[in-house]
Amino acid sequence: MPEGPSIVILKDEVAAFAGRRIASVDGNTTIDTSRLVGQRIVALRSWGKHFLVEFDGFALRIHLLMFGTYRIDERREDKPVRLGLRFDDGSELNFYTCSVRFVEGPLDETYEWSGDVMSPAWNPAIARRKLRAMPDALVCDALLDQTVFAGVGNIIKNEVLFRIRVHPLSAVGALPARKLAELVEQARIYSFEFLEWKRAYVLRQHWLAHTRRICPRCDIPFVKAYLGTTNRRSFFCERCQRRYGAVGAELVPVKKAEGARPASAARVLAEVKPRKAPKPVKAPKAMQAADASTPAKPVKAPRRSRADEVASDAVRRRPAPRVGAAPRVAEVAAQPAPRAARKAARRSRAER
Ligand SMILES: [Zn+2]
Repeated sequence: MPEGPSIVILKDEVAAFAGRRIASVDGNTTIDTSRLVGQRIVALRSWGKHFLVEFDGFALRIHLLMFGTYRIDERREDKPVRLGLRFDDGSELNFYTCSVRFVEGPLDETYEWSGDVMSPAWNPAIARRKLRAMPDALVCDALLDQTVFAGVGNIIKNEVLFRIRVHPLSAVGALPARKLAELVEQARIYSFEFLEWKRAYVLRQHWLAHTRRICPRCDIPFVKAYLGTTNRRSFFCERCQRRYGAVGAELVPVKKAEGARPASAARVLAEVKPRKAPKPVKAPKAMQAADASTPAKPVKAPRRSRADEVASDAVRRRPAPRVGAAPRVAEVAAQPAPRAARKAARRSRAER
């Protein structure tokens, strides 16, 4: 889903259309497009995930929904255009799979610009106040609340919560003031980083949590679950993302959707797709021989045991995280054989 920064990119790409007059309109939108013919674009703006084409006294609000796209001065062959704006000079602007609506009156009377994380008018104090007024909300829902963080979408949500080490099922009211401030601050900072990475076509490679399988901080599997009333995909680490608030997982409402979605977060966590069972770490042959004849030198324990101690019940119900990955086998192999074993080997070579 295009998040706020992607709409800012759209706004920048079409900036040259400001001042142009619409010659004709086509597309399968149900709005009264005849109203647009002859209108001159006053400004192109964005608020959160809304792209706004401003005219004198009214505006067009275009929301790209989950899979919306647009083309400038070209058309897609594979999709019917939802709204196509053709201009006097032959240029055109085409939108696909989006929602189109009119907004009546001046935009400044409709939109609260201080609530848009990408806006110069963004006001963190107002965002904190709104959050304090919703103490029972889960942070995973609060971040997606467009009345608080217009423009924040699911990617930004997952990355911000990972960055500030907050569990998505934390209650907003249980966050210490310092964490609440960090949440508000990072929602904006990450959104601008998202913008820069997206402009450079390197956004995905910067994702640390979203769609990732292993926590880069703990090297244990992330939990993937559909959480909160928003029921959106969350990727989080049960070890390094702290859960604030005494909300029991079983009390967390999870909206039913897409058929047999679990009715509670506890079940969501229990039904997280099991990952492969751990492969035993094989000691190299030389080590095995040495172990047979001498008291074993303690081999560095896999990090799994430490992780399991702190993992929540939800994680513990799942198969243990994958261990024995290549680097750790190498770690074991690199360990020098016990001195006694080396001595024994020398002795046996001498005897031969
Ligand atoms: Zn972690």
